[in-house]
Amino acid sequence: MNAKGFAAHSATDPLQQFAFERRAPRSNDVVIDILYCGVCHTDLHLARNHGGFTLYPIVPGHEIVGRVRAVGENVTRFKVGDMVGVGCMVDSCQHCQPCLKGWEQDCVEGSTFSYNSVDRQDGTITYGGYSDAIVVRDKFVLSLPDGLDPAAAAPLLCAGITTWSPLVHWNVGAGSKVAVIGLGGLGHMALKLAKALGADVTLFTRSTGKEDDAVRLGADHVVLSNDPEQMKAVAGRFDVIIDTVPYDHDVNGYMPTLAVEGVLVLVGYMGPLSTPVNAGSVVRGRRAISGSFIGGLRETQQMLDFCGEHGIVSDVEIIPIQKINEAYERMLKSDVKYRFVIDMASLKA
Ligand code: NAP
Ligand code: ZN
Ligand code: ZN
Repeated sequence: MNAKGFAAHSATDPLQQFAFERRAPRSNDVVIDILYCGVCHTDLHLARNHGGFTLYPIVPGHEIVGRVRAVGENVTRFKVGDMVGVGCMVDSCQHCQPCLKGWEQDCVEGSTFSYNSVDRQDGTITYGGYSDAIVVRDKFVLSLPDGLDPAAAAPLLCAGITTWSPLVHWNVGAGSKVAVIGLGGLGHMALKLAKALGADVTLFTRSTGKEDDAVRLGADHVVLSNDPEQMKAVAGRFDVIIDTVPYDHDVNGYMPTLAVEGVLVLVGYMGPLSTPVNAGSVVRGRRAISGSFIGGLRETQQMLDFCGEHGIVSDVEIIPIQKINEAYERMLKSDVKYRFVIDMASLKA
C-alpha cells in the first residue's frame, strides 16, 4: 500500500517528505492510521547516524498512537476503529528464552525494530511512525486505555516503558528512594512513574530553571549535579538511579549518592564511557551499575494500564511534521517540555 512520511536520506540531510510502500497486510497484521507520533532522542541519534548503523532513507518514529484501519483474518485482539499503540518493536523470533519470558526487546535473534531494521519475514527495511499509516504484527500492537489523551499518551510507548521497566525490575515502591538523571522525555516520565509507584523522588539536572517543573512532575527534591555541595548532601541516599543522559558522561559523581546495594541504571547512552568507573564505588557497599533496554510487550501493556488507572501521560508540545528538523535542534538544547509529539494530520498539509 502507498504510504507517505518524512525521511532523512543521509546523516546531514534534514528530514523531508518521502513516499514509500508498506506491505500488504498478512493474516496476523493490523493496519493502523497514525494519529500521533512522539519524538524520541533515539530518532535523532539514528537520523544522524550517531551509532554508525543507520540504513537510509530512514523514517524514524516509535511512539505511535493510531486507529485500526483494517485487520488480517487471524487477528482477534483488535477490530477496526480501536485506539492502539506501537512502540520500538514490530516483531521478534518468539521462541528464544528472552522472547518466551516476554523480553522481546532482548530477542537473541534480534528484535525487528519499528524503523531501521530488516523485516524478518520479507527482508525489507522497516519504516517508523513519522508517517500516515503502519502495518504491524498483532502481537506487537498495544491497547490504549480509555480516557488517556492520545497525543499525550504516545510517548508512553518508548519514554514510558523504558523508565517503567527498570523501576519495576528494581522493585521500586513505597519507601524507595529513586533519583532520575536528566529532565527530558525519559526523565520526566521517570519522575511521574516513580512518584506514582510511591517512591521518594529526586531529580539530578545540570540545568537551572527546571526546579518548579520537576516538582510539578513528581520530584520531591531537585539536585544540581554540577554543584558539589548539593551532591555531597545526598551521599548514600538512593536505592535506584535512572540515568537518562544521551551522551558520554562521567557516572562517578553519582555513585557515592547510592545507598548500600543501590543500583545506577543506564538507559540513555549506549556507547563506551570515556571516564572509567572507579571499581571501588561498586565494590564498597555492593553497589551496581546496570542498564535496561525499552521493555517487553507484556510489561508495556501493564505500564499502559497503570497509566490509564493513574491518569499518567506525557507533557507534550504538539508540532506539525514540517517542524521536525527544528524540533531536533531544540531537543539538542534541552528546549522541550518535555516531549515533542507530531500531529500526523499535518502530513496532509
Ligand atoms: P531528551 O529528551 O533529549 O532528554 C535528555 C536529558 O538529558 C536532557 O533534557 C538533559 O537534562 C540531559 N542531558 C542532555 N545532554 C546531556 C549531557 N551532554 N550531559 C548531561 N546531561 C545531558 O532525550 P530522551 O528522549 O529522554 O532520551 C534520552 C536518551 O535515552 C537518548 O540517548 C535515547 O537514545 C535513549 N533511549 C534509550 C532507550 C532504552 O531503551 N534504553 C529508550 C529510549 C531512549 P537536564 O537539562 O535536566 O540535565
Ligand atoms: Zn525512543
Ligand atoms: Zn527471540
